[in-house]
Amino acid sequence: MWLAARLATYFPVLFVTGVWAWSYYAYIVVLVGTLIDNVFVAAVYGLTFHMLSFLFLAPYYRAVFEPLPLIQSKFVLSHHEFRRLTHGEPCPDLKDRNLPIKMHDGSGRLRLCTKCKIIKPDRCRHCSICGACVLKFDHHCPWVANCVGFHNYKFFFQFLAYATFFLIFVAATSARYFILYVNGSISSDHGIHMAAMCFIAVVFLFSVGSLFAMHIHLLRRNETTVMTRVRSVLL
Ligand SMILES: [Zn+2]
Ligand SMILES: [Zn+2]
Repeated sequence: MWLAARLATYFPVLFVTGVWAWSYYAYIVVLVGTLIDNVFVAAVYGLTFHMLSFLFLAPYYRAVFEPLPLIQSKFVLSHHEFRRLTHGEPCPDLKDRNLPIKMHDGSGRLRLCTKCKIIKPDRCRHCSICGACVLKFDHHCPWVANCVGFHNYKFFFQFLAYATFFLIFVAATSARYFILYVNGSISSDHGIHMAAMCFIAVVFLFSVGSLFAMHIHLLRRNETTVMTRVRSVLL
């Protein structure tokens, strides 16, 4: 049962892989291999498709499979320390650890994770889906079947950036053949792939592109997605 639930979390990753595999067939076999007569244009289109595919898929799978890092041992509490802190009693031994913490809970006390039994480092949050505390937690992303945080944020951001460029390229270069299909200038066997590819690229571009723009905004403000959510609840 646990294994089935775990495998189900990877369904969106399989979906993304499947859509890309079909787009490979539509773009390389149908468009580049059949519809484009000019060899130079076909070579440039084919090369760019392969290059952008590699640039967005490599960080995508790094974001999916990058494991959560362990929390440093100095943040881990013994049973005795945990009991004292949860009962609001002082714990003088903690001062020797020189924990680099600025964030506290609403009452000014240390932020504790009662599940992992640790003092949460700044910006660390417990993810109930991953069942662990995540450093610099941004959000749990079902599309990468993983938390986005300190361990994989760079890969997640690279994925958003290159996926946006990939989708712009695919939508722009397939649009002409979509129009030719609508005008009846190319066969429906080939045209249906061009129509579907152009439509899907535009739909994905709206979601991935807006997410990319949002994360540029967050990076400029040195904020995380969860911080904006908490603020929107408080305001
Ligand atoms: Zn935790
Ligand atoms: Zn998670």
